[in-house]
Amino acid sequence: MNVIQDFVQVGAANRPGYPMTSTFITVHNTGNSSKGADATGHAAYIKSTYAGTTSWHFSVDDHQAIQHIPTNENAWHAGDGTNGPGNRTSIGVEICENSDGNQAQAEANAIDLIIDLMKQFNIPLANVVPHKHWTGKECPHLILPRWDAFIAAITKRQQERDLAERLAKVPDWARGSVKKLLLNSVVDEPSGDLTFYRVIVVLDRLGLIA
Ligand SMILES: [Zn+2]
Repeated sequence: MNVIQDFVQVGAANRPGYPMTSTFITVHNTGNSSKGADATGHAAYIKSTYAGTTSWHFSVDDHQAIQHIPTNENAWHAGDGTNGPGNRTSIGVEICENSDGNQAQAEANAIDLIIDLMKQFNIPLANVVPHKHWTGKECPHLILPRWDAFIAAITKRQQERDLAERLAKVPDWARGSVKKLLLNSVVDEPSGDLTFYRVIVVLDRLGLIA
């Protein structure tokens, strides 16, 4: 996921600057369905005085992600107080819900960002939590009714990306055949051996690979 950095000014009321070691990711919906309330709209809002002391790390919409606060600093998004673990150990990801945007695509983009952050900070899937986890607030309100499906979608996307990464190492001419083997879990890892790939392609052409 391509992320644009557009940080809240150092010293602003909503950039507290406490050092943070990220061990959780907190998922939110913006709660703003107005047209234009996309990532760009929220980037403008969070840098204005209208935001007060409220802040979060990333806004994601159907075409981009914008980062407002560095991931090694805390933000005030979880509502669990100055020393709350939500506010002090979790990266806040706001998923936009502007009515002129594509909600499914915004969620798909958020999932890609979440996977990137999990990798970068070695955060387990069990530590990807809804805002509700910290305070009981009904957020992310659009996703809570299907939270388990959202988590399952993260796992599915991780598998897709992992497969694509492994296949990228395989020569074009063998990729289709090797993909079948990986999908059927016949082999775990393409060996990189050209003879192996040639044999696989021949077997596949003979119809011997399902
Ligand atoms: Zn929230």
